[in-house]
Amino acid sequence: MTTHDTLAAKIQGPVFEPGDDGYDDERTGVQLNGPHRPDVIVGALDAADVRAAVEYAAAHALPVAVQNTGHGLPQGMDGGLLVSTRRMTGVRVDPDARTASIEAGARWSDVVPEAAAHGLAPLSGSAPGVGAVSYVLGGGVGLMSRAFGNAADHVRSLDVVTADAQLRNVTPDADPDLFWALLGGRANFGIVTRLEIGLLPVTRLYGGGLFFDTAQIPEILETWRTWSATVPDAMTSSIAMMPVPDAPVFPAPLRGRRVAHVRIAYLGDAAEGESLIAPLRAVGPRLIDAVADMPYTESGTIHNEPPIPMAYRATNLTVDELGADTARTLLDLADDRTIVEIRQLGGALKAAPPHPTAVGNRDAAYLIGVLTKGDGGAVHDKAEKALAKASSGRLLNFLFGAAATPERVREAFDASTYQRLRELKAVHDPANLFRLNHNIPPAT
Ligand SMILES: Cc1cc2nc3c(=O)[nH]c(=O)nc-3n(C[C@H](O)[C@H](O)[C@H](O)COP(=O)(O)OP(=O)(O)OC[C@H]3O[C@@H](n4cnc5c(N)ncnc54)[C@H](O)[C@@H]3O)c2cc1C
Repeated sequence: MTTHDTLAAKIQGPVFEPGDDGYDDERTGVQLNGPHRPDVIVGALDAADVRAAVEYAAAHALPVAVQNTGHGLPQGMDGGLLVSTRRMTGVRVDPDARTASIEAGARWSDVVPEAAAHGLAPLSGSAPGVGAVSYVLGGGVGLMSRAFGNAADHVRSLDVVTADAQLRNVTPDADPDLFWALLGGRANFGIVTRLEIGLLPVTRLYGGGLFFDTAQIPEILETWRTWSATVPDAMTSSIAMMPVPDAPVFPAPLRGRRVAHVRIAYLGDAAEGESLIAPLRAVGPRLIDAVADMPYTESGTIHNEPPIPMAYRATNLTVDELGADTARTLLDLADDRTIVEIRQLGGALKAAPPHPTAVGNRDAAYLIGVLTKGDGGAVHDKAEKALAKASSGRLLNFLFGAAATPERVREAFDASTYQRLRELKAVHDPANLFRLNHNIPPAT
């Protein structure tokens, strides 16, 4: 007999309590800083399990969190009920409609090959191991975003369990307010069990990484900064200045060095791509030059982010322009322990979506990330202070761990969007059952 035995009787999947075998594995995701410590975890197999879990939580006044891979863990919960979606990995592609139906636990690495089998691709991001549904609900800026916009802009419908424990099918026609709020407001409005999203007729990219050695970092940063302001929307790129550990899992030419990694994803043909990136190559010899024509199924190699659990802390913010002063500040922040990444936004990300969504900060030109292993301490305070004047806001998807404070969540939206989200939260979840997330409190 367990504390939550009446819950277990209603759930097809496993239920874990502290001390159970499997409890620690189930609550632990990719981000190891400040993990969830729930009273009980439901390892949902399907939407019915999610519905039963929310019904139980509401009846027992247990706040609810939801987790798939743990890449985007906000502040970890201490008590409450965690719905773990990692077993719900179904993906179904409709080649005629050019859509994918994606369950809550699928990662991009589940979706990309299914779509590719039909000559299609999703608007996936840099890391194949990231959960597709949460990524889309948070906006989703990916490898083709400057050409096709936020992934959220392509959603057709969502199945969601709301705070009243109802499973609803939400479309822009049937429930425009909830559709709007879920796409941007994410877990505040329920647990999405499945979504249907448009796919693109894309099978290949001219893409990959250019790695420059330490002495070249200032020049490649300045070259990429000015070059990125001139490129067409078919080009999505980023640059990371980073220390590479001296470990066998990293390519030999990079080990133990501080390098700049320029990531290229270009939708045009290889010859055009080659001439487009010629100014970057002209900066000088590369430690590795892996930019070439590639099938979209290999697009995870462009950023090549290590798919291993680790404790990390990130400061993320957006800017409306990347001036020389900001670039100098970033150069100063990048050191032997700190990764500084700049992703170019803009292009189709600024366009109005076919159906309105709450995704915020659409006009930003660049996303800046400052990342450390462990806590990183003072460098994050220094980054926040140094970049405060240039910052135009945040992207919800990139607010992790202790950085996901209520103030920063608010900064992911303009004032009227945030206020409308609060009003809709008061309608759909007045008791703030879904508060263990990037929380938007109900309007009072
Ligand atoms: C290495 C790395 C690369 C990334 N690259 C990109 C990128 O290219 N573009 C981009 O836009 N973002 C990117 N992100 C951010 C990523 O999209 C978000 O962190 C996203 O939330 C991760 O989803 P997850 O399911 O993997 O993580 P989780 O930690 O499992 O989920 C994060 C949060 O989403 C909410 N959530 C999860 N599942 C559901 C659900 N079914 N219904 C409602 N809410 C839910 C919960 O509040 C949960 O805490 C990246 C993050 C990392 C760490």
